[in-house]
Amino acid sequence: MAFPALRQPKNAKIEEKIRTQVFNEPQNFLIVTLKDGKKLVVSSDAYHGILTAGELYRCVFCETEMVRDVICKERHKASENHRKILEGYPHIDEYKENLLRKLNTPGHYCTVCNVVVMLHYANRHILGHSHRLELDKAKGRALSYKPYY
Ligand SMILES: [Zn+2]
Ligand SMILES: [Zn+2]
Repeated sequence: MAFPALRQPKNAKIEEKIRTQVFNEPQNFLIVTLKDGKKLVVSSDAYHGILTAGELYRCVFCETEMVRDVICKERHKASENHRKILEGYPHIDEYKENLLRKLNTPGHYCTVCNVVVMLHYANRHILGHSHRLELDKAKGRALSYKPYY
């Protein structure tokens, strides 16, 4: 027997998702606990400064590019070299929950939005609509987040 027509809208939705996001990659999240105890849940890639650039992944902090391959990326994030470098870019206390890391190249990296913010634009960025939206999402995720053990 054929599947009922009910299934059609669901399939249409999936197609749409694939079209807008060419690379269908699993996204892991991790929890960031601030000094005041506030919690945010951000994507693992955002936390580690991994940007997608066409066919490549780029690590903002190591200033390195790699092929757009999930295994390659996870290996990079887990590498001792990356972890050491990342430690050198702590979230700036002053910006609190906005999770900005200061870069060596002029500017900041916003962990909440997974973007590089140009020099002098940090304050404007954290007040901006898209940042507030992402911040709300990160806070919202923290309410329902259950880490895997
Ligand atoms: Zn790196
Ligand atoms: Zn942001």
